[in-house]
Amino acid sequence: MNTIAALPGKSSYYFQLEEQYGAHNYHPLPVVLERGSGVFLWDVDGKRYYDFLSGYSAVNQGHCHPAITSALIEQARRLTLTSRAFHNDQLGKYEQLITGLFGYDKVLPMNTGVEAVETAIKLCRRWGYAVKGIPADKAKLLVCDQNFHGRTGAVISFSSDPSAYAGFGPFMTGFEIIPYNDPDALALALTDKNVAGFLVEPIQGEAGVIIPDKGYLSKAKQLCADAHALFIADEIQTGLGRTGKLLACDHEAVRPDILVLGKALSGGTMPVSAVLADNEIMLTIKPGEHGSTFGGNPLACSVAIAALNVIQEENLAANADAMGKLLRMEIEKLRSPLIAAIRGKGLLNAIVIRHPDKEAAWHICMAMKERGLLAKPTHGDKIRLAPPLIITEEQVIEAVSIIGEALESL
Ligand code: PLP
Repeated sequence: MNTIAALPGKSSYYFQLEEQYGAHNYHPLPVVLERGSGVFLWDVDGKRYYDFLSGYSAVNQGHCHPAITSALIEQARRLTLTSRAFHNDQLGKYEQLITGLFGYDKVLPMNTGVEAVETAIKLCRRWGYAVKGIPADKAKLLVCDQNFHGRTGAVISFSSDPSAYAGFGPFMTGFEIIPYNDPDALALALTDKNVAGFLVEPIQGEAGVIIPDKGYLSKAKQLCADAHALFIADEIQTGLGRTGKLLACDHEAVRPDILVLGKALSGGTMPVSAVLADNEIMLTIKPGEHGSTFGGNPLACSVAIAALNVIQEENLAANADAMGKLLRMEIEKLRSPLIAAIRGKGLLNAIVIRHPDKEAAWHICMAMKERGLLAKPTHGDKIRLAPPLIITEEQVIEAVSIIGEALESL
């Protein structure tokens, strides 16, 4: 799609640079951003937008949160990287904070979300051999249809989305895809004694904010416990206040055996991810058997401490809960014939667009952009609405009026 001509002011210059020199592995909305503060972003021509994507839920604390950027800048001046060949004075403090907050014995720090997922898979397999006694190389992980856990070779090996895996084989084995939100399918798959664990998103974000039935997560956890298999929650997108609780699993008082976090762990300033588990699981990986040059670096640790403190001190989960309810209520009040459904938990929401034009969700996002709100279609006909968790009542109401105007313009 040639959108260069449609771009105003300075944008076309930046757009053209990316088009010419960057890989074409994304299809961004044609807007070039240069500044962010709180729930707002500004483009290179000074136009202001509500951010209703939040960097795919990485910016829960709002753009350039002063406490997080201060921690980043101060630590960057002192020490950024030691590698894990040596100790640093931030890592232990961070480990103590995050394990205490989520109630686990240990944390293993990584960088991007997918690296933390890979770590969880390795940890689960290792536990399967060392503790459960699965015969060598026979460990199996159960995953869900329509999952999204990232883009590495191992992780796309169990994707059910051809746009993620097609043309990238051969794939890693040892995974079985089962239907999401289906405890019977899980129970059946768990009869295989070689199942080491079940990896699941408490809400499937990328698939279009698919919320499982009430009781699914607690039932799944129980089934895993009964089968002596690990329940692994990928809370990279759903965690850290996004759904109105600290973790989406908290809605059902489920404690995952392995918890995977990322994105908002740094408030969107740098890649910081984490895997949490108890000693029985975590200590099956010994020194030298897993790691990362940047994982646990002092800059990341200092930023993550600040990011976690902001989530707690500013009660972001409670605000996400209240503002999410308001957002869904106000959108329902629009009574737009173009909205087939609105669903969500906290501030992880999606509207499903009903229109004969397959590109309608894209056109609506373009119309919202023109009116000062940025959101992105996911899976064609769905638009995710996920602003930073610091959004106020007044801002939700103004944002919904922009969404309403955009819908009417189609
Ligand atoms: N898992 C989930 C649930 C995600 O939503 C994402 C990213 O969107 C990832 C994993 C991958 O994270 P990253 O892009 O930081 O590798």
